[in-house]
Amino acid sequence: MSGERIVIVGSGQAAIQLAASLRQEGHEGPITLIGDEPGLPYQRPPLSKGYMKEGDPERLVLKPQSFFERNAITLCDATRVASIDRAARTVATDDGATHGYDQLVLATGARNVRPPIAGGTHSDVVELRTLAHAETIRRRLADTRHAIVVGGGFIGLEFAAMARLAGARVTVLESADRLMARAVSPAISDFVLAHHRAAGIAIRLGAKVARIDDEAERVVGVTLADGTGIEGDLVLVATGVAPNGELAAAAGLVVANGIVVDETLATGDPAISAIGDCASVPGPLGTHLRLESVQAAMDQARHLAKRIVHGTAAAYHAVPWFWSDQGALKLQIAGLTSGADRFETIRQEELVTVIIGYRDGQLASVETINAPGEHMAARKLLGREAPVGVDELRDSGFDLRALAKGQAGSRDRSVASA
Ligand code: FAD
Repeated sequence: MSGERIVIVGSGQAAIQLAASLRQEGHEGPITLIGDEPGLPYQRPPLSKGYMKEGDPERLVLKPQSFFERNAITLCDATRVASIDRAARTVATDDGATHGYDQLVLATGARNVRPPIAGGTHSDVVELRTLAHAETIRRRLADTRHAIVVGGGFIGLEFAAMARLAGARVTVLESADRLMARAVSPAISDFVLAHHRAAGIAIRLGAKVARIDDEAERVVGVTLADGTGIEGDLVLVATGVAPNGELAAAAGLVVANGIVVDETLATGDPAISAIGDCASVPGPLGTHLRLESVQAAMDQARHLAKRIVHGTAAAYHAVPWFWSDQGALKLQIAGLTSGADRFETIRQEELVTVIIGYRDGQLASVETINAPGEHMAARKLLGREAPVGVDELRDSGFDLRALAKGQAGSRDRSVASA
């Protein structure tokens, strides 16, 4: 097993973690990472946060050059994998090379998608996924007077907060009736909306952008479906992503909102696995889901490394968690809000809130704003073997931290309810 040739397609968060974990687990064979972006692999979360201010690409690097040398990991950057030959167990790259594998791992991530909006072919219309995108935006931001953000999801709102702090006027246009609707409870949407509006960001809900308007090679604003015109000189389109599954589909693997894998993260071909943003993994109640988060990329990579090196067939299971920094707000989510049938606010102060989501009377998610202690406790509780019921939470006075501490030894109700 440990002499096998492993080829990883992609060189993002999941790919790098996998390469590191394979060596940590004792894999001795060749590891080759093939990624189509140039340079050393980097982390994406700061691109919409601190990087806009600092602009230091060195701080984004996931592993230095010495890591690849020390661990005998071959990194082929700026190289695209064009096809997979499953019978021959090779991949072909766009520079004409062929790489043989015993195990192939697809960690191809996702790419931005843009809804049908007319116009907007100029450089003032930007997107944000890569370091190159972030650099373009950072340079433009210095002389932007009014930034228009199409899409009130995590990335659009993180950028909006940064742009506002940089002194620009900012308008966010969201077509749904609330912010971040796919991933957070209505109460969190409302809390964040109120905060951003108070910080001077204009936010329009139910606002469908029909056209990006330009004049003499410059963007001058957008027009909404109802005919309303909004003037602006920079437009960020942040309307979600689609998984990069074409390579897998062309090789005959099942792709349905991501490359479909089983609970061991293998595709229908036992020699090919998929992890990270591109993978559709088994979720609760027989569903399949794709999690676009650093946690999922890293936990799936660690899990897969164990299977490849030790042949363990354990099912992948990890508590999903996520964060988003938006100005003065640190939003953290543990568990899955999508499966919750009821939400309850258990703490609310000016810049702080904690909201519990239940599914069938059991703890399913905890959303926190500026409450990192509760977030960490929630991750422990959601990872507990016995589900946490509504009665147990009530008995503890909704003290998540005390409940989580009780988990370590014999749970002490007197502490929990003190
Ligand atoms: P990626 O990091 O996207 O890496 C995939 C790589 O594969 C890419 O470089 C891609 O170009 C390459 N590739 C694709 N096809 C090929 C091919 N055929 N050949 C070669 N290479 C190929 N998550 C959080 O948890 N918290 C956050 O606060 C957060 N903030 C974010 C902010 C931004 C601006 C962005 C863009 C993402 C953010 N995320 C955040 C999400 C997180 O960064 C992703 O979930 C994570 O990067 C997924 O890692 P990955 O390795 O699966 O994919």
